[in-house]
Amino acid sequence: AADSALYQAKRKGRANYQFYTSEFTAHAVNLLSIEHGLRLALLNNEFILHYQPQIDLKTEKVIGVEALLRWQHPELGLLEPDKFINIAEDTGLIHTIGQWVLYTACLQAKVWHNTGFPKLQMSVNLSGHTLLHDPKLVMHVNQALIDSQLEPHLLKLEITEGILQTAEHSIAVLFELKSLGIGLAIDDFGTGYSCLNSLKRLPIDTLKIDRSFIQDIMRDENDQAIASTIIAMARTLNLKVIAEGVQDAEQLSFLRTQNCNMVQGYIFSQPITAIAIEDYLRNHLLSPE
Ligand code: C2E
Ligand code: MG
Ligand code: MG
Ligand code: MG
Repeated sequence: AADSALYQAKRKGRANYQFYTSEFTAHAVNLLSIEHGLRLALLNNEFILHYQPQIDLKTEKVIGVEALLRWQHPELGLLEPDKFINIAEDTGLIHTIGQWVLYTACLQAKVWHNTGFPKLQMSVNLSGHTLLHDPKLVMHVNQALIDSQLEPHLLKLEITEGILQTAEHSIAVLFELKSLGIGLAIDDFGTGYSCLNSLKRLPIDTLKIDRSFIQDIMRDENDQAIASTIIAMARTLNLKVIAEGVQDAEQLSFLRTQNCNMVQGYIFSQPITAIAIEDYLRNHLLSPE
């Protein structure tokens, strides 16, 4: 049927053919060109990392940064991950891209450790696809630690909550990762369906409260209750908790009353380049102990 539709469209002339193309295949063409672009991006070094500070609420000092991937696209400009991560995952390119992210972030962390920020933690997002499907993941993380000489406990991998209920296999891999001595955080917490029991049997040390609960926290009592419950639960389970997406002073003081450990959000800084974050760190340095 598609063939004959195409044939009809061609017979009707060029304008109609183009219409057919945009209706039915533009999406596929777009996917293909992004896939091709992603392959070139790896070769041409078009990926960069931006960093967002993670702040200790008690001291208001930076204790770590999260590495966030950007693509400096030759024509489209600076792209955020929502424009390309899905395609990277669907094509399997995410494993190689993730490896680049991991190496770059570990090497950068080590540079910062050697230039005045010795205890800075580095958080790196790990794709659920890689956790599930890349048999070399643990080896790559181990190799990145060896090559960068980064102290393992200063590396944190962030895994979205959604991936955890999918497979026993991913839990086994988490234990292998943990045995390297690194930290593990659950990202976007509250959006999945973890039960207390499953949290207890995972080798994780940090929960990150999803931004969607923080956004309306001063107006929405449900969000307030959810955030408070997550914070209290984390304390009971001996986990650290980070609130994501904190944008104003009211949200911050609410989180302080709940004894949330750490915050991340535009109120402190958007994700910025490595050079820009060095200035930021100089002014908000964690106290060296
Ligand atoms: P995420 O790991 O939950 O990262 C937090 C996202 O929230 C970032 O978006 C950050 O820029 C944004 N954000 C932080 N503070 C605020 C705030 O106060 N207000 C608002 N509105 N937004 C805030 P970004 O950088 O666009 O990344 C989106 C997602 O893409 C990340 O969510 C993560 O899941 C994924 N991602 C980013 N880098 C990587 C990577 O290297 N590998 C993989 N696999 N995924 C990545
Ligand atoms: Mg964004
Ligand atoms: Mg994250
Ligand atoms: Mg998140």
